[in-house]
Amino acid sequence: MKTEFDVIIVGLGPVGATLAALLDLCDVSVLVLEREADVYPLPRAVHFDDEVMRVFQTIGIADQTEDVTVVNKGMRFIDTDGQILLDWPRPQEIGPNGWYPSYRFNQPILERLLRSKLDTCSYVDVRLNSEVTDVVSGESNVRCSYRDRITGAQRTACAAYVVGCDGANSIVREKMAVGWEDLGFEERWLVVDVLLNVEKPELGEFTIQHCDPARPSTFAHGPGMRRRWEFTLFEEEDSEVAVGDEFALQLLSKWLKPGEAEIERRAVYTFGSKLAHDWRQGRMLVAGDAAHLMPPFMGQGMCTGIRDASNLAWKLAAVIKGETEEQLLNTYSSERRPHAQTYIETAIKLGQLMNSYSRDAASGGKMESLVVRLGPGLGDMNDPHRGRLFPQPRLDDGRLMDDVVGYQSVTVSLSGDGDLDANDHPELKLILNERSLTSVTIRPDRYTQAAS
Ligand SMILES: Cc1cc2nc3c(=O)[nH]c(=O)nc-3n(C[C@H](O)[C@H](O)[C@H](O)COP(=O)(O)OP(=O)(O)OC[C@H]3O[C@@H](n4cnc5c(N)ncnc54)[C@H](O)[C@@H]3O)c2cc1C
Repeated sequence: MKTEFDVIIVGLGPVGATLAALLDLCDVSVLVLEREADVYPLPRAVHFDDEVMRVFQTIGIADQTEDVTVVNKGMRFIDTDGQILLDWPRPQEIGPNGWYPSYRFNQPILERLLRSKLDTCSYVDVRLNSEVTDVVSGESNVRCSYRDRITGAQRTACAAYVVGCDGANSIVREKMAVGWEDLGFEERWLVVDVLLNVEKPELGEFTIQHCDPARPSTFAHGPGMRRRWEFTLFEEEDSEVAVGDEFALQLLSKWLKPGEAEIERRAVYTFGSKLAHDWRQGRMLVAGDAAHLMPPFMGQGMCTGIRDASNLAWKLAAVIKGETEEQLLNTYSSERRPHAQTYIETAIKLGQLMNSYSRDAASGGKMESLVVRLGPGLGDMNDPHRGRLFPQPRLDDGRLMDDVVGYQSVTVSLSGDGDLDANDHPELKLILNERSLTSVTIRPDRYTQAAS
């Protein structure tokens, strides 16, 4: 069958949509096949970080995204007396990535923004109501069979590569036959999103992890009047009963009086912690929840998936355009998998803290955001700068560095032989001097490729 597209992306969640928008920047033709007509309606992500905002900046939606977010104050783990067991304050100033370190948002609103972005992408063809039923990888291309859910018609499409951004039950991962590694966390939680009818300043602006042995729970402050509660469910509690009005209202009554809020949506989830053994099998790859699952206590599941998209997009584009050997794609899994594993393991530890309620272990402790280096990939890992996200200063003309650089690799140097002369940009010169460097090459995903 003729190869009609460079890449087929299965799934139009936040990860698939971001990957498609990044590939469009590289003039790579993309078909997105999405089973549903609309975005996922149930409560999911409420937090993303500055690295993710930087990716949104690259695809040109950062300003619109900022309009629908609030800057996150931080997270506190408290005991039943209100004592802080662990404090994770988030800075209220712009950080090294050129954005606030942490934002609160509403996932369906973000997903609609991403879909509107794709409407403007000339290399991206989105087909909704299209459920992928089979994926067959051949020597020169990969074929996806899909069912049009409106007409029932069975269709096929062919591309050089397929990326499964199709969530936890990924058909692409299944066809890759790579299997899951289970990192051992599994708990059932009820998640309830409410819209306040009245201001409730006493709820505070911090995310609160209530380490209450009677029922660990989470409160999170969203944009506007949106608030989120999450509650552990015990073995004897039936999921069907837990999603009913009575159950949720009774739990919320600790914080809300009748009439103070409407329940917008709720769902019971089993939070897991899994990692696909390999993220590439020939012409098939996985990203986002299709590659990794983590409990939501750090608010990093989607963020991890957006980082996958950012790592993979420029590599796929370079291989498809014949600019590099296809072995480059192997570095996607070797760089991203250990990175994701660190986030999963930290999220599990936070979940265990909520359950263990160990004052001695955590009383009054402070937590800082993770700064994680990519796993081994391109080049010599003895270079301590390689595989680290390079900061994004605002340059002296007021523009953010990535906007000046564009979506490509760049060498910044003090000797004048790079793409950007750091002597012309005091903020860049400062960063190089602080690191005792004279030259740095930054990849399109803003990670350091080489430094000297
Ligand atoms: C309660 C909760 C709270 C969370 N909080 C946070 C948070 O604060 N911060 C954070 O970063 N993350 C959070 N997450 C995780 C985050 O929501 C997910 O990691 C993210 O949605 C995954 O995005 P994705 O694009 O990989 O997959 P999905 O959003 O699941 O998208 C997959 C898409 O693939 C489609 N699809 C599936 N199979 C097929 C098929 N065969 N054919 C065609 N299409 C198909 C689906 O319809 C879907 O649209 C939370 C999750 C939960 C449940």
